[in-house]
Amino acid sequence: MTIIYLGSLFEEHDTGAGHPESARRIEKVNKDLLSTVAPAIKSDGGFGDITVGSITPAERTVIEKVHQSGQVDKVMNITASGGGFIDGDTVLSSDSYHIAAAAVGVCIDAVDQIVDQNHHNALCLIRPPGHHATADTSMGFCLFNNIAIAAEYALKNKQLGRVLIIDWDVHHGNGTQDIFYGKEDVFYFSTHRYPFYPGSGHESETGTGAGLGKTLNIPMAADISRSDFLDQFQLGLDQAFVKCKPDLVMISAGFDAHYLDPVGSLGLETEDFGLMTEMVIDRARQYCAGRILSVLEGGYHPGALYQSIALHLQKLSVYKPS
Ligand SMILES: [Zn+2]
Repeated sequence: MTIIYLGSLFEEHDTGAGHPESARRIEKVNKDLLSTVAPAIKSDGGFGDITVGSITPAERTVIEKVHQSGQVDKVMNITASGGGFIDGDTVLSSDSYHIAAAAVGVCIDAVDQIVDQNHHNALCLIRPPGHHATADTSMGFCLFNNIAIAAEYALKNKQLGRVLIIDWDVHHGNGTQDIFYGKEDVFYFSTHRYPFYPGSGHESETGTGAGLGKTLNIPMAADISRSDFLDQFQLGLDQAFVKCKPDLVMISAGFDAHYLDPVGSLGLETEDFGLMTEMVIDRARQYCAGRILSVLEGGYHPGALYQSIALHLQKLSVYKPS
């Protein structure tokens, strides 16, 4: 049983005409995804049980479990002034704080739904994305680190022991890595194009102090073949699960490694995201009763993004406990 969070609210973070991280990314998702799901269920060939979650913005105190108050002030102040740039490529509009807080809020609710056993897994189709945001800097289209806040909440408020974050966005999630780099209870595993934005993600970056060995980076060359990518992903995934033994799995689900993506293309096809989803589900089944929280990150070709999300959701929704 899957819970999905989506809505036109997430289109209201207005980054302006021509910005790749715009509302256009998710318009079709909001308009058509659920009507695609309904007939697929009837034809008995597609989706499993899916419910739609409600959207409640996170309180500032929840955001500050990860982010410094000065950074939250900055996002609030730029929003209150009608919008503007917070870094060279990250722009806010007059409602961005509220929408970013809503993005965090649905990830928190998704943790509740999964850990309280109402749903096996969850998919949060939110924007702005989060994995580049560090504890004190909003950057790379990201305001607050949605998945990091959700992981922190799962550990502190739900008393889980360990969380595994799998980041298959084409960009390295420097923010998530940075936030948990010295911590032992969150394992961060990333595959990403390298060298590429934001510059981090070398395989020598493995954590520090209590977090040493809890970060696994698998950089991918721009011309890597699909089969090599999937082989590397699978190898890393096995290592990550064995080392972490997670109580909950989170996916930073960016779809910008798709070959049609205008920002990140790493040559992947839509079906590859289905295969990667199945690999994660198989292992989550063994380690943590299939508990997966998937959070949208990048993906800038609206058509490819829609198809990839639909397949990802389909794979999540047919999960049955064994
Ligand atoms: Zn990305």
